[in-house]
Amino acid sequence: MHITFHGAARNVTGSKHIVQLNDGTIILLDCGMFQGLGEKTENLNDHFGFNPNKVDYMILSHAHIDHCGLIPRLVAEGFDGQIFCTAPTMELARILLMDSARIQEQDAEFANRHQKNGEHSSALYTEEQAIDALRLFKIVDYNEEFEITPRIKFTLTDAGHVIGSAAVHLTVLEDGKHTTVTFSGDVGRYGDLLLRSPQTFPQAHYILMESTYGDSLHKDLEPIEDALQQIIHETCIVKRGKVIIPAFSVGRTQELLYALNALELRGVLPDVNYYVDSPLSDKATQIIKDHPEVYNKEVTEVLKVDNDPFAFKNLRFVQSTEE
Ligand SMILES: [Zn+2]
Repeated sequence: MHITFHGAARNVTGSKHIVQLNDGTIILLDCGMFQGLGEKTENLNDHFGFNPNKVDYMILSHAHIDHCGLIPRLVAEGFDGQIFCTAPTMELARILLMDSARIQEQDAEFANRHQKNGEHSSALYTEEQAIDALRLFKIVDYNEEFEITPRIKFTLTDAGHVIGSAAVHLTVLEDGKHTTVTFSGDVGRYGDLLLRSPQTFPQAHYILMESTYGDSLHKDLEPIEDALQQIIHETCIVKRGKVIIPAFSVGRTQELLYALNALELRGVLPDVNYYVDSPLSDKATQIIKDHPEVYNKEVTEVLKVDNDPFAFKNLRFVQSTEE
């Protein structure tokens, strides 16, 4: 077995790891886009450093773009195998890849309109290519061993990082010997507001480990409800102003909605209008609502008294720029 790294090694983003077996079978772990590495970024995303045509299978740890963002490109360049992941990862990947394709098409169009000396920019992939890639996805449940071939098996365990996120545990039989390889994917934190804590997993011969924040200790998560309540009350009721909160569409937005909903349940939510200005957030929130099995114990308790822990009075999702 040979393992090679084509991203997310000595840098962050672009997660792509190739496991090549002695019989030539190639398994790709994640196919992430490089992001935010300055001038180098475009070139890194343009060249895989391996032949997509030769990859047999892919396993996806989670739906963040730095882990799945180049899948449509992989398929456009000849990959035609199955892509294994959990159900929430597949659903999130669908909306995030479509969004990513749209942004790239718009960026390329913008660049071409402003390009001098006849240069031409093209999108890394189009919406059509994203749709084309999505047909290769295959759902695998957590904690159930999946047999790709009699010699290649894997299990996914909950990584507690974003809904559907998984650590991948591969078992390979070659030359009469079993070898286990664990790929951690991104690892979540203990005590997340919505998600379960990362699951422990069995020992492996080799562990490929995410270590982005490995050199620092996280502070304990502090409850955000009371701070939110105070800020909204001060700003909107006392000073008659507006509070604007930038938040990632997947994850952070749902945490904020959940905290505001908790204030409503306690009867202390300030009586003002609440807007989520992002159709992508709306879709992501719907996906999280469709998968209550990923919630931690606290959210499961709330569900007993409130069947929608992400909705409260005066909440509206904005659907268009005009709106
Ligand atoms: Zn991630």
